[in-house]
Amino acid sequence: MNSLKHRILDIALAVTAFLKPHRLLCPIFQGEGVILVMHRVVPDKRCPRIPASSRIEITPEFLEELINYFIELNYEIISLDSVHQRLSGKETGRPFVCFTFDDGYVDIFTIIHPLFMKYQLPYAVYVVSDFPDRKSVLWWYMLEDLVLKHNALSFRYADQGFSFTTRSATEKEAAFAKIREVILSVPQDQMTEVLDAVFSPYSIIAEDYNDLQMDWNQVVELSRESLVTIGAHTVHHYNLKQLTAEQVRWEIQTSKERLEEKIGRPVEHFAYPYGSRDEVGKREFDLAAESDFKTMVTVREGNIFSDHAAHLSCLPRVEITGRHQNLALVDVRRCGIVSFLRHGLTRVITE
Ligand SMILES: [Zn+2]
Repeated sequence: MNSLKHRILDIALAVTAFLKPHRLLCPIFQGEGVILVMHRVVPDKRCPRIPASSRIEITPEFLEELINYFIELNYEIISLDSVHQRLSGKETGRPFVCFTFDDGYVDIFTIIHPLFMKYQLPYAVYVVSDFPDRKSVLWWYMLEDLVLKHNALSFRYADQGFSFTTRSATEKEAAFAKIREVILSVPQDQMTEVLDAVFSPYSIIAEDYNDLQMDWNQVVELSRESLVTIGAHTVHHYNLKQLTAEQVRWEIQTSKERLEEKIGRPVEHFAYPYGSRDEVGKREFDLAAESDFKTMVTVREGNIFSDHAAHLSCLPRVEITGRHQNLALVDVRRCGIVSFLRHGLTRVITE
């Protein structure tokens, strides 16, 4: 059933890519432009992966295609400061695209930065300050390795025993999903115990994954380049809706100050962790607005309109994941039509 649905979608996309009917609607729905969000850019090594883990990765080839696609469409590729200027009415121009990358993985330094410098284009990276502080545990990559390396798994947590057969790809994906669910169901201050219960019997060590994150030397080096904007993305990357107002303030303000202290420049842009309606809403928007950022972004899918000048604490973005590596699909989404249909025929997406 699922494969039939995918085939129908593929055919619909192929017809759309050829006839481009959505382009007639573009002037109505594209607004001023679009802020894109991506996470990781990783060469396709063709080794077995868990799709739920690799979904945030696109290939370097696709990123370059994406840049060239917008250049050929005559878009202006602009910085977050320019997005802010546009919304303040201080700059005007052709439709824009602003490239942003969340979290602060090392591929920003090794792959994304060199590519943007080759084209001399601006981009932004929102850094979780615990990444370069080496305090983040990248348990989702540890979990992927755990299920890929073993044919059976078991652990005990909170007086409950868990065991899984993990021989086939389907079994590995199911175990990954279940263990992920267990980890995410634990209150954030008990994370250490659950991670210890899952990983310590298998000698999977958090420090071995540190190099997937940028270190401070790399963040500082990027910040010296005027085409790069360093934005804040909290300290721990927690679900902010689960925290008290005081904890949310601390997460936002501390990450901003930590970055400013390291890079010696003001940090004026912010991205909410996760950023969907499950993790951020009106309360978080109001709390982030206390920190004097020029722009604050979610992952609600949407284009940027001049009306967003009154909603700088909740600017929508269009997320490009591994599943979206298709320029025909990008062509429909950058026109704002997917967002319009998805949001009950609303063009200006805010809260
Ligand atoms: Zn993030």
